Amino acid sequence: MSGSTTPPDADLRAEVLVLGGGPGGYTAAFRAADLGKQVVLVERFPTLGGVCLNVGCIPSKALLHLAEVVTEARDLARHGVEFGEPRLDLARIRGFKDGVVAKLTGGLAGLAERRKVEVVEGVGRFEGPHLLRVEGAGGERTVAFEHAIIAVGSRSAQLPGLPDDPRVMDSTAALELEEIPARLLVIGGGIIGLEMASVFHALGSRVTVVELLDALLTGTDPDLVKPLQKIIEARYEEVLLSTKVTGVETGPGGLLVSFEGARVPAHGRFDRVLVAVGRRPNGDRIAAEAAGVTVDERGFIRVDEQLRTNVPHVFAIGDVVGEPMLAHKASHEGKTAAEVIAGRKVAFDPRAIPSVAYTDPEVAWMGLTESEAKAREIPFRKVSFPWTASGRALGIGRAEGLTKLLVDPESRALLGAGIVGRSAGELISELVLALEFGADTEDLALTIHPHPTLSETLAFAAELSEGTITDLMPPKRR
Ligand code: NAD
Repeated sequence: MSGSTTPPDADLRAEVLVLGGGPGGYTAAFRAADLGKQVVLVERFPTLGGVCLNVGCIPSKALLHLAEVVTEARDLARHGVEFGEPRLDLARIRGFKDGVVAKLTGGLAGLAERRKVEVVEGVGRFEGPHLLRVEGAGGERTVAFEHAIIAVGSRSAQLPGLPDDPRVMDSTAALELEEIPARLLVIGGGIIGLEMASVFHALGSRVTVVELLDALLTGTDPDLVKPLQKIIEARYEEVLLSTKVTGVETGPGGLLVSFEGARVPAHGRFDRVLVAVGRRPNGDRIAAEAAGVTVDERGFIRVDEQLRTNVPHVFAIGDVVGEPMLAHKASHEGKTAAEVIAGRKVAFDPRAIPSVAYTDPEVAWMGLTESEAKAREIPFRKVSFPWTASGRALGIGRAEGLTKLLVDPESRALLGAGIVGRSAGELISELVLALEFGADTEDLALTIHPHPTLSETLAFAAELSEGTITDLMPPKRR
């Protein structure tokens, strides 16, 4: 350690200090340790894994799995197979979800130990350019560090003026699954709101979604959102766009909600309300200024492509450095930051970061979007393969899907893609790989995909672009 810059009297010393043990932070810490660094990882919660693993991606996906099976079973009635209504044992459902989380967090603790990463539990705040103070249940400790990686993530945004009542939930509270409300209002038609709406609807709630803007999953191409919207509009009590919640009042019979907007709902009494109106970065909570690190007015920390902040020995990764706030972006950034600190000449420079809404149907996209191409005046050709022409999609009763490619009109190189439909989140990876490898639509079209699979729709879309499709009429050449 370069003793000249690190405070001599700290309780602990670290070559690399990582602040925050989510997917970004633990990945950075483990990679740094594997590259021979002595690492201290500070995490405020007793388990590693952060929001994603403890109260986000992982528990929500366990519940979404149940939701999918229940919905599928109900849908089978249309094809002559009837199971009747499911009987729910909430304690066992919670046990399943908590068991999945415990297995993963336990695994991380073991991996940290085997790598000799010292995990310190407590809330960390900077006290100087090379010093962090940690306040934990076991008292206060200081950590002197040579390099730091800030990986403190984000928190749910709050709506002002809502009552402090356990029936008004954020996503963390909703995932605790205390009860299945008879009527649930979801405020926010983004990814979190729509994923949780899927879960509660499948488990028996009557669901209303209210969204301030005029579209669900804003920022996602409208043709990808449309099939999802059509399905949930039929399933849920109401999907209200361009509508604002103006107040929530508590009462013994439920939560009385008032709205303002294009189409105010008939019935404003709900048993629970879920607020999912975005996430805010935690950059404002770590006294970053004491280390000289600049945090903008929204709480984000700006970094360069090596994840370096304005202070050369302090790095930042994950939600706190900006959108998209996704675990897989954070973990890749974490590896890059650790490698840069270990002296490798690397940078975080992906051609595409995939996004997935694990709704029913799923929506996934990567690379250039149509809206972005139009805004930036990037020339593109669009091809869409409708899943009504996919034997596999028909066979699983999910013909609402769509696979779309955005292609460079000159070189035919893949620029971006989107999929809506069953398993879209799994299917999108092939297109990310294709984009990273600089594939064009001929490469995709000539790659033999197994038949009958949903993955074929990717090749069919490429064949549409090439004009070689036989499962549909080829597009007319202009
Ligand atoms: P979001 O920003 O995606 O969606 C929030 C929505 O709430 C927006 O559409 C916004 O217009 C709406 N809204 C804001 N104020 C409102 C109001 N007063 N009334 C009604 N609607 C209002 O945020 P999120 O869904 O909370 O998710 C947060 C972040 O977490 C996302 O950016 C996403 O990257 C990440 N996330 C990702 C996944 C995934 O990858 N599957 C899952 C969950 C969360």
